[in-house]
Amino acid sequence: MLTMLEEALAQLDQVAALIKLEEGVHKRLRRAQRALIVSVPTRMDDGRVEVFEGYRVQHDNSFGPTKGGIRYHPDVNLDEVTALAMLMTWKCALMGLPYGGAKGGVRCTPTAMSQGELERMTRRFTSEIVLIIGPDLDIPAPDVYTNEQTMAWMMDTYSMQRGITVPGVVTGKPVLLGGSLGRRESTGRGVAFVTADAARELRIGLAGATVAVQGKGNVGGVAARLLHEAGCRVVGLSDSKGGIYNSKGLDISRVLRHLQEGGRFADLPDGDTITNAELLALPVDILIPAALEGAIHEGNADRIRAKLIVEGANGPTAAAADRILEGKGTRVVPDILANAGGVTVSYFEWVQDLQFYFWREEEINQRLKELMAAAFRRVWDYAAEQKVSMRLAAMSLAVKRVAEAHRVRGLYP
Ligand code: GLU
Repeated sequence: MLTMLEEALAQLDQVAALIKLEEGVHKRLRRAQRALIVSVPTRMDDGRVEVFEGYRVQHDNSFGPTKGGIRYHPDVNLDEVTALAMLMTWKCALMGLPYGGAKGGVRCTPTAMSQGELERMTRRFTSEIVLIIGPDLDIPAPDVYTNEQTMAWMMDTYSMQRGITVPGVVTGKPVLLGGSLGRRESTGRGVAFVTADAARELRIGLAGATVAVQGKGNVGGVAARLLHEAGCRVVGLSDSKGGIYNSKGLDISRVLRHLQEGGRFADLPDGDTITNAELLALPVDILIPAALEGAIHEGNADRIRAKLIVEGANGPTAAAADRILEGKGTRVVPDILANAGGVTVSYFEWVQDLQFYFWREEEINQRLKELMAAAFRRVWDYAAEQKVSMRLAAMSLAVKRVAEAHRVRGLYP
């Protein structure tokens, strides 16, 4: 199996050949511009000192500050963070945002840590990367197992070191501290928008369409709820341990409320418990992998029965699986388009922070809808024109845009 970075590079190489990318630019884009590895000593509640490893990788800054989330997970490593930073470059370029791509993370087990431990680790991590972040330099945001509270601690730590309050250093903050209305739901909302767009093109009627969602978090949970509200029949939902299935459709709000209150899928009377492998193979119209990378691989791709896959997660489909899906005629709306709603509203948040002027939620959701619809249209049309997958089309449009910035700016010195 390829590592995530090997997958990302293979993808870039394929696109480079397709768009005849200039060799010098191709070589530069294969590497991250800057990467920092830090150790994060943290006092645990029992008095011990644990030393975590943290990373911040900035892949390319030709359009402006770099942008991307911070992930807390036991599998975080430099290879993965670099690949995710590269994906952020393509995502921001595809959406036309004035950002390059970055990503960060700490290798830890957040689910086994107390709030106090998480706060101390976050603050130490922030101060270790303080020299390379800032509102005009690199702007972190939430990702897997980080949230508004994490961003509040990061903003506070950065601000205390600077001696002034700097809300624009991170996005995905609490609204009270300069966060944006609508940011929390924005990734899932964007997923729901492009799902509707793709379903329309593929003539899958959204009302009554069956949907399975892998992931009940900020992306999967929100997308499931919004699609349920749009008339879809969400029949399956899961988290890292497994999920639930009911062919008649789940009452998503009730299921999510139960989970938020600490309940387990197994205690719900709403349906049958299933494994993640079973969820991915459900007989549905639409499958939304919204958990971690590599969920769909060579070993399970041929069991997928959905007509449409919308990638809520970053990198959920391995390249080998992509080929199998393409052979079967399964349409895949790629991550850099499907989950771009998050970074798009992050951009709105940053603009509001820089201007100290805040927008109404309807305005934010409307602007998000317009940007997502326009990006979907560009990708859909380019894929049709070039007779390539939506992933190749989205990547081509993004890489071309970055390459053009490199060409026009030239090579320093
Ligand atoms: N972590 C999210 C992503 O993968 C959001 C990044 C951001 O808002 O900067 O797109």
